[in-house]
Amino acid sequence: MVATPALPKPELALFDVDYTVLEPGPVFGPEGYRAIAARHGLTLDPSRWAEAERAAYAVVKARRAELGAVHDEGAYLAIALAVIGALGGGAPDAVAASADAVVAEWVRAENFTLYDDVLPCFVRLRAAGVKVGLVSNTSRDLGEIVASFGLGDHVKVAVASAEIGLAKPSPEIFGVALERGGVAAGAAVMIGDSVEDDVKGALACGMNAILLDRAGRYDLPLLTVRSLAEVPAALSL
Ligand SMILES: [Mg+2]
Repeated sequence: MVATPALPKPELALFDVDYTVLEPGPVFGPEGYRAIAARHGLTLDPSRWAEAERAAYAVVKARRAELGAVHDEGAYLAIALAVIGALGGGAPDAVAASADAVVAEWVRAENFTLYDDVLPCFVRLRAAGVKVGLVSNTSRDLGEIVASFGLGDHVKVAVASAEIGLAKPSPEIFGVALERGGVAAGAAVMIGDSVEDDVKGALACGMNAILLDRAGRYDLPLLTVRSLAEVPAALSL
């Protein structure tokens, strides 16, 4: 549900990519890990997935504490290693090869799908004269993502952390997006699934922000939507 009151209509709406616009496919889930690791001789236990998710979260948190909000090129590999370890692990060489194989899949657009609510939302924003952009903590090429998913008519601004060396929630990455959009912070809104990176990061820059909570996990004093279908109304459109 959209909390009231709605935000004023922005000039620029920036979207996070992973788990906001793009859904990582099953290759990055328990069965995907099991299958990839099996090719390298490991027998992982997919039933330990909850433990693997906790391990991935912990590794991301530890790296962030150590590195700060810089672009973290090694994050995917560290996550894959943590997940494989939590699912049972095995011989170090096989674990390393499996983790490398997971990372190789992460850069392939065909392993992701566009959530159903993305295009209708982008069409609605564009029709209302709101510029759309992407801001992502990623090593992937956002231009390629935009082309692969047919978003070229909609997405006018894109910033990847790999490109500038700094990641959300650092103010610099939001600043680059605002500059590219030619919009002041107060006329922009950030929409994403990460409380810290997307929402708090954008709010700290003077932007508005909407938390996308697809799974209904949060109960926070933040403007929250369960689907991008709720975004136009949340932006007074
Ligand atoms: Mg995300």
